[in-house]
Amino acid sequence: MTIYEARDGLTTDLHESYPIGVNPRGARALDRARPDMAIALRKRGVMVDAWKSYAGTRMVAEVPSGLVVGTTRSTINEMLYDEVRKHFERRIEIKWGHRLKSLDLLERRLVFDVKQPVIDPDVARTYEEVTVEGRGARVLACDGVWSEVRAFAENHVEGFKSQVTPWGVQFRLLFSKPGAGALAPYLKPENHYVMSGIYVSIIEGDVWVLALGISDGLPAQTRELLLATEATPERVAALRAYVTKRAPLAAPFLEEEDLGLYFGRKSFRGAIVKVNRLNLGEWGVLLGGTYGGVEGGEGIRERRREGRWREEEVV
Ligand SMILES: Cc1cc2nc3c(=O)[nH]c(=O)nc-3n(C[C@H](O)[C@H](O)[C@H](O)COP(=O)(O)OP(=O)(O)OC[C@H]3O[C@@H](n4cnc5c(N)ncnc54)[C@H](O)[C@@H]3O)c2cc1C
Repeated sequence: MTIYEARDGLTTDLHESYPIGVNPRGARALDRARPDMAIALRKRGVMVDAWKSYAGTRMVAEVPSGLVVGTTRSTINEMLYDEVRKHFERRIEIKWGHRLKSLDLLERRLVFDVKQPVIDPDVARTYEEVTVEGRGARVLACDGVWSEVRAFAENHVEGFKSQVTPWGVQFRLLFSKPGAGALAPYLKPENHYVMSGIYVSIIEGDVWVLALGISDGLPAQTRELLLATEATPERVAALRAYVTKRAPLAAPFLEEEDLGLYFGRKSFRGAIVKVNRLNLGEWGVLLGGTYGGVEGGEGIRERRREGRWREEEVV
């Protein structure tokens, strides 16, 4: 098996990732694939006891869990990657820096843009076009919510239809320094918190993370602040005021440096995808993950819609 991945390599930096919850179905999938991964998840993740919603300093709702494991996306990626390297290195080859550009269904070819090595850091990255012959192979298209393969199918496969509904919210993260738990002892590592659009949880090593939900409906000035890419003293002060107002219980985590780093981070967005079929003839199949873990905040509404669609349209 060969995996073609657009990124240059695996990112294990927590600060480039985001917190996720692995539900029992996800944990079982890891266990069935390789029991070692389920053990690693239990060791590295923290079982979520409950989600607690706050308005200011007042708790307004609580959803018990005891089933979902809190971790980060990069931790799961790292676990999967380690298992592949340990046990399947000969059978699974990973080709990094290969971005799928187009497919040829008739000839069964895949065309990739392949990143060329950096020779001069001042010169923009160059790409080489590489064609992979796919006759006799099967294509598992796992290229995510903005899938190139799905877009291709939309334009070239008769009868194929998809509908993409963006979440209408994106997330950008603020991280505490390690050991920050002592600054807010009333926040418990085993709970995850939703504080007026800010998701607060612990990740590895007593680092706390605040995922700021930036919804399309926020006032323009607030969106501008939360999506700004340069940290100025005014913006850092405005960000502190914004978070303190929405999530006063997490305010002790906010150090000047951490607030400044926020402006250098990318934001994460998603969408719900509905397709009327998953196969591209007998050659390929679309595979994608679903948002399954986290209650509260934005997830719950989307999950219900997604679950309904999944049952009605796909299975
Ligand atoms: C902020 C946020 C929080 C979330 N929280 C949770 C949660 O708590 N629990 C949960 O269950 N789910 C959560 N999700 C959803 C979860 O991340 C997705 O359901 C899951 O990642 C989808 O998996 P996937 O394999 O379909 O796609 P992805 O994980 O997006 O993987 C797609 C891969 O394909 C690569 N790729 C894309 N285009 C190309 C191309 N043209 N050529 C080559 N490679 C390409 C990408 O680089 C990537 O590695 C969250 C998502 C977001 C954005």
